[in-house]
Amino acid sequence: MSSPPNGKTLVQLKNIHQIYSSGARRFTAVENVNVTISEGEFVALLGPSGCGKSTLLRIITGLQKPSEGFVLYRGVPLKGVNPHASIVFQTFALFPWLTVLENVDLALKMKGAPPHLRTTRALDLLDRVGLDGFENAYPRELSGGMRQKVGFARAMAVEPELLCLDEPFSALDVLSAEALRGELLELWTSGNIPTRAILMVSHNIEEAVFMADRIIIMDKDPGRVISELAINLPHPRQRKSPAFQALVDQVYAMLAGQTQPEAIELGSAPGEPGRTRRLPIIHINDLAGLLEHLADLPENRADIYRLVEDLSVDPDTLLRLTEAAELLGFATIDKGDITLTPLGETFAEASILARKEIFATRIRRLPIFRWLLAMLRAAQNQRLDWDVVHTALELEFPSDEAERQLDAIIDWGRYAEILTYDDDDEALYLEPGPPVAA
Ligand code: ADP
Ligand code: MG
Repeated sequence: MSSPPNGKTLVQLKNIHQIYSSGARRFTAVENVNVTISEGEFVALLGPSGCGKSTLLRIITGLQKPSEGFVLYRGVPLKGVNPHASIVFQTFALFPWLTVLENVDLALKMKGAPPHLRTTRALDLLDRVGLDGFENAYPRELSGGMRQKVGFARAMAVEPELLCLDEPFSALDVLSAEALRGELLELWTSGNIPTRAILMVSHNIEEAVFMADRIIIMDKDPGRVISELAINLPHPRQRKSPAFQALVDQVYAMLAGQTQPEAIELGSAPGEPGRTRRLPIIHINDLAGLLEHLADLPENRADIYRLVEDLSVDPDTLLRLTEAAELLGFATIDKGDITLTPLGETFAEASILARKEIFATRIRRLPIFRWLLAMLRAAQNQRLDWDVVHTALELEFPSDEAERQLDAIIDWGRYAEILTYDDDDEALYLEPGPPVAA
């Protein structure tokens, strides 16, 4: 575990099981979860939707009693709601008839703060989350990002030792999310808040690596912890640094449940010894359709032959799609079955922008993309003639296959926004850089 050297244990989940019933069905939503969070830690919880992340937050804050197991808070078994913890939800419920200031004031009032101190304290909190000047606005007058800031201010008003965040940025547009992440990190790292630990549920791998000291990775059916990873990078973190990218890649690999040595699975790059792996020729929309279909099935699994009918595709197309899904770590194939990996589930559930990011991270690992991106980076103006790349690929593949491969590279690269192709001057370009994470 990555607790800082002197970090005292703040909260412990011991053998947590959660059974739910829906209709006649009883199912295990969370199985045997053991997690310890120490003072000074920012922990992120990652995993596909339905793996029990929100359930764990409710259990850890005492809003819900687990079917089995218990929570220790500072070594003492938790009974009822934890007064030292608070939760910020994805969309924070503000009272629409109260102003920003009144919304925060109400939280202070419920906490029992003396009336004469409340206004000053509320103003101070709003100032700290960057809402200075909006005290008298009503929630409907604010952008989503600003409403979420009021949510943070309200959560902070109770001065929680443990701040729990349930996908706090996922309902926001890219820019507000990024701004609010920065502000939260600044509050946290400056030590200006009494919060001793943060537990954040996230859907976003880059966000987790950007913010957390430790990432706990869950999978579902049943919901359980499958691995964890310490993020020992100093703040502020540089998304484009090799160390950052390596950690992002590691999290992806954990979610993809990589079992084979990567060199065998991925093949080699053109010009390198070993077999150059062809890209399966597919439409990315079809791949997304396959993953979405699997995400809707029990256990996210299907007999491959059945998919021919269910998705009305011909068998060849289907095989190329399953190959692409496996190559990208979105699914595993075993004895005629295809099963989504947690990464595949994450992709199926992600927004368009998040899908592009996942896709970009995955294809950057493929030797053929590594090779091309390295050439583009080295090229003048980061531009290569289509013909030049085609000729290079012809050393590996027959001419018509080289052309199909290049079309696929351009198609995938454009989708991932890591390269572009300019029709007019028949050249490939490197995109200015990976898109800012949502
Ligand atoms: P996550 O936050 O990771 O998406 P949840 O904790 O919300 O997961 O849910 C885990 C599983 O438990 C899901 O299958 C969900 O449908 C189910 N679930 C959650 N809360 C309840 C409930 N109160 N009653 C029945 N099923 C529930
Ligand atoms: Mg949830």
